This record gives sequence, structure tokens and C-alpha cells, in this order.
Amino acid sequence: SQIRHKSSGGELKSPLGPCAPIPNENLVEYIYKNIDEFIEEPAATCAVSGRSYTYGMLRMLINRCAQALLGHCGLQQGEVVGLLLPNIPEFVIVCHGAIEAGLTVTFVNPLYTPDEIKRQFENAGVKMIITIPLLLEIATTIGPTLSGYRSTICIGGDDDPAKNVHGLMSLLSEGHEAELPPIHPDKLALLPYSSGTTGLPKGVMLSHRNLVANLVQGDHRALIGNTASKNGEKHKALTVLPFFHIYGFNGIMNISLRLGTHLITIPRFTPEDYIKALEEYKPTYLFVVPSLLLFLASHPSVKKEHLSSVEEITSGAAPLTEGLLQKFRQKIDNPDVTIRQGYGMTESSPVTFFMPQITPPSKIGTIGILYPGTEAKVVSLSSGELLGTHQTGELLVRGPQVMMGYLNNEQATSETIDEDGWLHTGDVVYYDEDHYFYLVDRCKELIKVKGNQVSPTELENLILEIEGIIDAAVVGVPDDLAGEVPRAYVVTKPGQNLNEEDIQKFVSSKVTHYKKLAGGVKFINSIPRNPSGKILRNELKIQHS
Ligand code: AMP
Repeated sequence: SQIRHKSSGGELKSPLGPCAPIPNENLVEYIYKNIDEFIEEPAATCAVSGRSYTYGMLRMLINRCAQALLGHCGLQQGEVVGLLLPNIPEFVIVCHGAIEAGLTVTFVNPLYTPDEIKRQFENAGVKMIITIPLLLEIATTIGPTLSGYRSTICIGGDDDPAKNVHGLMSLLSEGHEAELPPIHPDKLALLPYSSGTTGLPKGVMLSHRNLVANLVQGDHRALIGNTASKNGEKHKALTVLPFFHIYGFNGIMNISLRLGTHLITIPRFTPEDYIKALEEYKPTYLFVVPSLLLFLASHPSVKKEHLSSVEEITSGAAPLTEGLLQKFRQKIDNPDVTIRQGYGMTESSPVTFFMPQITPPSKIGTIGILYPGTEAKVVSLSSGELLGTHQTGELLVRGPQVMMGYLNNEQATSETIDEDGWLHTGDVVYYDEDHYFYLVDRCKELIKVKGNQVSPTELENLILEIEGIIDAAVVGVPDDLAGEVPRAYVVTKPGQNLNEEDIQKFVSSKVTHYKKLAGGVKFINSIPRNPSGKILRNELKIQHS
């Protein structure tokens, strides 16, 4: 379908040079390598409940969890564990525990509907679900419907110890830690879901090496800020962005733990909890998506003083506009705060571009420069030809952080990674004479609502289940708060009197909150398609805007 450009040289290499050697270590080994330097210090604290773990405790519990999963729970290396968890400190324990055991982790948004959870867990081949008491009922309903399912375990609650993470860990006798079997770095560690450039969400196969590579690449002095805050202590990072998305997982949680940062977690964003956490914990580091920055910049309850402890901010996952940046700068009124953006994709573990520590102020709106050891090229959207400076086209990237492929989906894999190893991002960019990149558009179907992925195909399939609808197309329309929201265009059978609300209600009953048709429903006579039947989404946007 798309024209593929054969590598003919002319690709750009990172101005930061090659990637430092990637150690042959598993992800967990790599993350906690320097732990002795901060073993007594706090690693993760829940801002709402105050539950807190030091690095030493966390590491011990991760190891015990790994042993319990392989021992008492009887899971085999390579099997898949599904996490149905919000951001809580114990997410780190069970997630890293499973990975250290050589299991593969897949995670879902805990606010997904049971159908959405089941679809992903079934596709991933989940053998055990780890959850919290609040979601236990959903987990125990879905679990037994999965093929070869073993058991569900819960964090907290005073259940049978065999069904409770802490209970399981307490079954291990102290001081008798068994050796864990070694893990080959090319083994699958993580299976997050992404719809990529087209179609339904797919399992993105990320190996230990992919994930470690991305951490090694980020560990470059031109990129990392100060690992200590101004008062000489380790950073305190407020992290409300989901650990069940690759940005939260590798780009926030893992990077922070590697550096000895104190993670302050909030299980579910509410303005009150977030502001309270700012007041109580005085974080020095914030990880944001643009919609969170907009909240900080414009919500009347967020005062300048709430942000006075903040020294560094990283934004990613959606476009950060200059207007928003200025609005936020005005609010904090502190030129010393560093605000930098990165760019990435689930398929690249995730980061491929980041703004260096010293980015000239003239580089307005840039996503930064290539990560060490990462290559890029920009190709024409119409001819696939290689383009040069200031020419706009599709971004292709290549590097050790690029996924192994999509799970059980060779076709989608070969449509996304070409034979020369280039990942086709579906993003439209250009670069300047200093090789700073600028993202201008997306040429893939994906819709991003507050940084969350929405697959138009998934919503179209749902809408087509409604009696009386014969064709449907979903596109993203701009929204001040969310960046974009999904809008449906539908074609009904003659004589139907379905209205907008009927369709919105049906979709809302089947999907999580951010996938709702907040951009409305429009009734049209036909959906524009190309001769092979592909929806011409841009045409739809232009015709009906
Ligand atoms: P995900 O796989 O969910 O991380 O989504 C990846 C997509 O998010 C990218 O292909 C981009 O379309 C978008 N994205 C990620 N980072 C940025 C950024 N800094 N600016 C604009 N869009 C971004």
C-alpha cells in the first residue's frame, strides 16, 4: 500500500554519536545496578495513602515476587502476566518482579471496560492477572475465560495468602532467596498495545535489550538534567501519567528508578489529589503530557506557589504548543525551570528524540535531536523519496530500541518495519540545518486524546454493530483541552431514524472514557474511500470541517 523507500544512504545519525554499549543484562538488573548508592532512600510513595518503600525494600520485594511467581504460582519463564493496576508503588514490585522472573508483562488501563480488557488479555495469552481489591471482580470474571489461565492475585485485601501478593511473598522463608534463572536479553519483556499506523491495537514485542537500550541512550550527559535537585537530594518526581503506557513505564518509572529518584504516585488523576501532592511532597521533577501542563497553566486552584519546588519538567506523547508553553511560563514566573519535550512511540521503547539540556531558544516547538545510536530519515508522502533539510515528509527511525515486531502479526510488522529495519512512524516532520526535528502532522490513523491512543478502527467496528448503520469512519478533531477527540461519520440505511445521541450512548457503554465520541456524530451519504476500500480520512476532515 504505502511506497517504501529502499535505504540508499542519506539518513541522519544522532549528533550525540553512537549509543554506549548495551550491557547484556536483563531490564531489572540494569535498572537497579546503582542501588547501593541510595538503598536507604525512598523509592516510591503513594501520595494519597502515604504507603512508601525505600530502594532496599523495593528491591527485596521485587526479588521475592519473582520467586513467588515462578515457585508458588508455578508460572514458567516466557508466560504472560497481565497487570490491571493503577499507579501505585506496588506496580513497580509486581511488574519488575514478573520481568525479573523472565515472564512477559502486558498491562491495561484499569479504567478499560471488561470487553476491552478481555480483548487485550486474550490476544496476549495472559496466564495470570495481578490486580487490586477494587478490580478483583473484573479480573476473576475475565481470567477463567482465558485459555490456560492459572490464577488471579491481588495486591492488598486480606485474602488467602496464596491469592495475595504480600501473602505469597511472606510464604518465602527469610534469607533463603533462591537463584532466579538467567534471562537472555533478547527475550520478550514487555507487551504493551498500540494500534501503530493502522488497524486495531496490537501487541508490541519489546525485549529486555530494547528497553535497556532506550535507558542507556537516555543516559547521556547532553540529555539528562541534574540527577540531584538543588538541595543536593535526589529528585522527587510526581508521576500521575500511567505506568501502563510505555512513556510512564520506561520513560518515567524505569529511568527514574535507575537514577535513584523518589517517585510520588497518584492512582487516579483528580485536580485535588494532584494539587495536594504538590503541596505535601514538593516535587522537583514533573513528567507531563500537554493536557496536564494545560491544567497546571490554567486551573484556578493551581497557584504559582504550588509549583515553586519544581526544577525540571519533561513533556511527551502529544504536541506541546508554544502558546501553552508561554502560558505555563507566565504562571510559574521562574526562568530557571527547564521544560523539555521528547518524542517517541510504543514501538520504539519509546524515546527516539529529546531536547538536549542546552537547546537554543530559537528552536521553537522542536521535539529535539536524535537519541544516541538512533538514525532517522524523512521521506516524501507521495513518492517515498528521501527528503532534505526543511522538507516535510514521513519520519522513519532506526535503532536498538525499535521493537522486535507485533505479536502474531507478520503483516502489520512488515508494513511498519521495512526490510532495512526502518520503523515507519506515521508522523509528519521536517528538520532544520542543525538537525533539530519538528513534528507537523500525523499521516497515520491514530487519534490521541490527552496523550492516550484511540484506534479509529476499534470505534468503527463498534459503530458497525449498531442496527441500521451501513458504513462508518472515525477521525480526530481538534479540541482545546484534549488535543483531539474522536468524531464519527456514519451512513445509515434509508428510513432509519437513529440520532447522534443513540450512537454516542452505545459507544460510551463499550469503551473507556477517553474513547467516547466527544467530537460528535455526523450523518453523511457515503464515506470517501480509495479504490482498495481504504477510508480517505483527510478528505473526510476537509470535506466536513
Ligand atoms: P504512543 O505509542 O502511544 O506513545 O503514541 C505515539 C505517537 O504519539 C507518536 O507517533 C506521535 O504521533 C505522538 N507523539 C509522541 N510524542 C509526541 C510529541 N512530543 N509531540 C507530538 N506528538 C507526539
